[in-house]
Amino acid sequence: MIDTLIIGGGAAGLYLASFLPKPVILERDGICGRKLLLTGGGRCNYTNVASPEEMSGRMNGNKAFIRRVLYSHSSEEIISHMRSLGIEPAEEDQGRILPRNGNAETVLSALLSSRPRIIKGCAGSIEKHGGSFIVRTGTESIEARRVVLATGGMSYPQTGSDGSGYELARKLGHSLTAPYPALAPIALTPSLARAEGISWHVTLSAGKRKEEGEIIITRRGISGPAALNISRFLQDDPEIGISFASIDRDKLRMESGSRTVKNALDIPPRLSEALLGAIADRKCGNLSRADLDTIERQLTHFKAKGKAIKEGAMNTRGGVPSSEIDPRTMESRIVQGLYIIGDMIDVDGPTGGFSLTWAFATAWCAARGLSLRK
Ligand SMILES: Cc1cc2nc3c(=O)[nH]c(=O)nc-3n(C[C@H](O)[C@H](O)[C@H](O)COP(=O)(O)OP(=O)(O)OC[C@H]3O[C@@H](n4cnc5c(N)ncnc54)[C@H](O)[C@@H]3O)c2cc1C
Repeated sequence: MIDTLIIGGGAAGLYLASFLPKPVILERDGICGRKLLLTGGGRCNYTNVASPEEMSGRMNGNKAFIRRVLYSHSSEEIISHMRSLGIEPAEEDQGRILPRNGNAETVLSALLSSRPRIIKGCAGSIEKHGGSFIVRTGTESIEARRVVLATGGMSYPQTGSDGSGYELARKLGHSLTAPYPALAPIALTPSLARAEGISWHVTLSAGKRKEEGEIIITRRGISGPAALNISRFLQDDPEIGISFASIDRDKLRMESGSRTVKNALDIPPRLSEALLGAIADRKCGNLSRADLDTIERQLTHFKAKGKAIKEGAMNTRGGVPSSEIDPRTMESRIVQGLYIIGDMIDVDGPTGGFSLTWAFATAWCAARGLSLRK
């Protein structure tokens, strides 16, 4: 019988393995860390210098739970553990920490240096019998005394995290908060396709949430850091507001009469066309009050229906409720001997290294929990 079986060899499962004496990982097709290799555009933004307090303030989920986990294993401790595995940190803008050589592959190799035993197979069911678990894949039954669910959320299913872990948790008695794409590009109706490719600094709003930063206009809607960070809130209310620029109505009216609106505004002409349609080609001298109202509304309070695009999501909102997990140890409060870490939990954060910090900090708490319960 295996003592501890980690199901899922992604960021959280591998980080946990790096603390265990004889780690065993069940990974669906035997290839660990596929998502980790994509992080930070292949450079792996693995944590952030922000304090646990600051981080928990910017993350979504139960704040007390998040704080407890992040104070147990802060970004300083992550940096120091990574250093012990040979990864030197480099700090970039907004406190983002990446490996100095800018290569996610070295982070993966470092985490694999604990040489975990990797069993190739996809967990299809888990049953608890007395003091142990039986995990069934399509081809074998594995008996383990303790099981760690590190199967990720539902983002980038091509990397292995297809949401099957949620079902495993549910069948063991856990409830689920409905998953929704987070850190995702947004499809807009109406779209701004005529302005495709333009990057712009904006303020986005969804419900009571506001996010200021860069967006990139795409064929279907918007992407870029500000769009990714606000995408999760569209589940609550699909209306999204975008403020592109302020306008000075008097200045516009006083422009030379022959100048077109799109050439007079402080935004790229293609963006004016996308926002204003025919008005963009009108001469400034011919603008009515209603035209000026439309220009002002579209530039400062552009409204659209927004939907997070599942296929591009980097994270998942929802999952196993944190109320069903002990934050000191990550042990399930429902099933003794079961541990849940990483994206599986209904906590998510903004871009900037927060998600990997979460994966690593929860993994460390589980390592502590596993060592306490021998
Ligand atoms: C493109 C992209 C870029 C990102 N960039 C960053 C970044 O720069 N910084 C940052 O902080 N975060 C980033 N993230 C988010 C970060 O990668 C995730 O939060 C993190 O990988 C979650 O770790 P995890 O171990 O919980 O899940 P995952 O890394 O998704 O790992 C889950 C593992 O479980 C396996 N698995 C699933 N189901 C089963 C099953 N039934 N049986 C066996 N194995 C199973 C999967 O194959 C996978 O290997 C990015 C995400 C994406 C998609």
